[in-house]
Amino acid sequence: MKREILLHICCGICAGHSVEYLRDKRFEIKGFFYNPNIYPLEEYKRRLEVAQTVAQNLGFELIEGPYEENDWLRETSKLKDEPEGGKRCSVCFGMRLIKTSDKANQLNIPYFTTTLTISPHKNTSVINKIGKQINQQYFLEYDFKKKDGFRKTMEFAKRLNLYRQDYCGCIYSMKQKTTGKE
Ligand code: SF4
Repeated sequence: MKREILLHICCGICAGHSVEYLRDKRFEIKGFFYNPNIYPLEEYKRRLEVAQTVAQNLGFELIEGPYEENDWLRETSKLKDEPEGGKRCSVCFGMRLIKTSDKANQLNIPYFTTTLTISPHKNTSVINKIGKQINQQYFLEYDFKKKDGFRKTMEFAKRLNLYRQDYCGCIYSMKQKTTGKE
């Protein structure tokens, strides 16, 4: 029997293998693009377009959440000097997962999870811990980078000729890239 899951999608590239993985586990997937961290707006739109291309290609519905850039900046401004992978990222993961949990409730979808764990630059145990704190029962823990998941999703992106971003997403990670601090 198929089960429904709301998959938080941080970007289209990360969705490629994650969607295939969840389908193998017989999940019926709806995607949720909620990423108020992405800066600037042009980059947000570009990543959303890529996610829409992937949704069309793999045949699942993608819901766009609101672009609450000011809320995100307010929550993270005190942590602007944190390195990537530090406390700011935990707040950023939490904001996106809380909204995904709320959306799943609103849509009557029992389970939720996130594509974030496919990135080798992100700490899977931190992401999964935050998800479980939000909802112990219905957040499903995965580590999509496992079993060659990251390589598979990059191959998927290559096949579809998808745009590949070169920074995590927020203004701080963009500045670290441009000043060569990363
Ligand atoms: S570096 Fe990435 S995960 Fe960390 S706060 Fe910025 S956008 Fe969020």
